[in-house]
Amino acid sequence: MNVTPIHRHNGMLYMDHVNLQQIAEHYGTPCYVYSRQGIRQRWLAFDNAFAQQPHLVCYAVKTNSNLAVLQTLAQLGAGFDIVSGGELARVLKAGGDASKVVFSGVGKSEAEMRFALASGIKCFNVESEAELYRLESVAKALNMVAPISLRVNPDVDPKTHAYISTGLKENKFGVSFKQALTLYRYAAASAHLMVQGIDCHIGSQLLDLAPLQEAATRVVAFQQQLNTEGIRLHHIDMGGGLGIDYQDSDQAPTPAAYVQALLDAIQQADMEVLVEPGRAIVGNNGVLLSKVELLKENEGKSFMVIDAAMNDLIRPALYDAWQSIVDVYDNAQVAQSVDVVGPVCETGDFLGKSRQLTSQPNDYIAVLSAGAYGFVMSSNYNTRPRAAEIMVDGAQHQCVRARETLEDLMRGERLFNE
Ligand SMILES: *Cc1c(COP(=O)(O)O)cnc(C)c1O
Repeated sequence: MNVTPIHRHNGMLYMDHVNLQQIAEHYGTPCYVYSRQGIRQRWLAFDNAFAQQPHLVCYAVKTNSNLAVLQTLAQLGAGFDIVSGGELARVLKAGGDASKVVFSGVGKSEAEMRFALASGIKCFNVESEAELYRLESVAKALNMVAPISLRVNPDVDPKTHAYISTGLKENKFGVSFKQALTLYRYAAASAHLMVQGIDCHIGSQLLDLAPLQEAATRVVAFQQQLNTEGIRLHHIDMGGGLGIDYQDSDQAPTPAAYVQALLDAIQQADMEVLVEPGRAIVGNNGVLLSKVELLKENEGKSFMVIDAAMNDLIRPALYDAWQSIVDVYDNAQVAQSVDVVGPVCETGDFLGKSRQLTSQPNDYIAVLSAGAYGFVMSSNYNTRPRAAEIMVDGAQHQCVRARETLEDLMRGERLFNE
């Protein structure tokens, strides 16, 4: 059973002990609301599941990089998986420990490599031959040694959406085992590279543990092959990807079941095991609150136009993702079937289709499971200021990112000087 901080009491929606209607009225809409306790609990669920096994749970920063979210996890001693220098700057600002940071991504710039080396990160997850040579030369110029893992592509089908499937050989991520062998030999002989581990990440929103186990089995077999050559790895990084329940039928495995499945497949305690969960930590610990602007009928079809749009939450438009949408106050009236749409001038601007809702203009609705890949993927399309972000802790609430102003949006722009 995966629990969430969202519940209803006397018709009103709450996150932990906080009434979400009051949050919407107090901070305005659209706004994202996150549960600090929920985020803590989910990270701890991964961490505790490892028990005596040496391990590091590296939160995937790209999922939700708000400083208060990173701070919450840093305080627990979390590791972090970053994909840019900007994310490293956020981790450091939030009080994260650089020595627990792993750096993923297919296109690290030289400047990002220098920043990460100077900060003393735990490991670079190297994704190509060209990147390995580039990292070696950057480290050499600084007279440093870069700790590395190679991201291998275990070529298993994660059975998820094509856009978030990364472990097949046709994807741009990682290298084949064959190429990895050559590159590990090269790295082991380099004075400016230090082999630390091996890494993979097969995809996101995984609801089936079998492909993850298959990937782990293949990675371990390869690690043993390296061992016979005298190339010793200190850690195995199985990436992120554990899915969450967007709807009741999803039945995502718990973090404990996921970790146990990985440990069963890895079957050896002499390497540190890293995981990089993102969605599974924050996804169901966030909601997007929005106000109903108006209701509209078109040829028998009903639309609910709200003040949040695809620029605030792009998952439905980008991945055809389904997220639950509920009335913040369930007024026990008969629900109407509506398409929930935003004001942006795109047909793809919808958050949900054929939803049963009772809300009327000026009432509030909540899009659930919005803590992951929500705010971080938002944009200013249609010159819409990005939403405020609020964090709840028990009965307390605080704004952890102010709503953007129009001034923020035009900062840096100039009229052409004739
Ligand atoms: C996106 C990503 C993650 C996190 O994925 P989730 O599905 O959110 O857990 C972890 N590692 C890497 C390399 C990623 O690209």
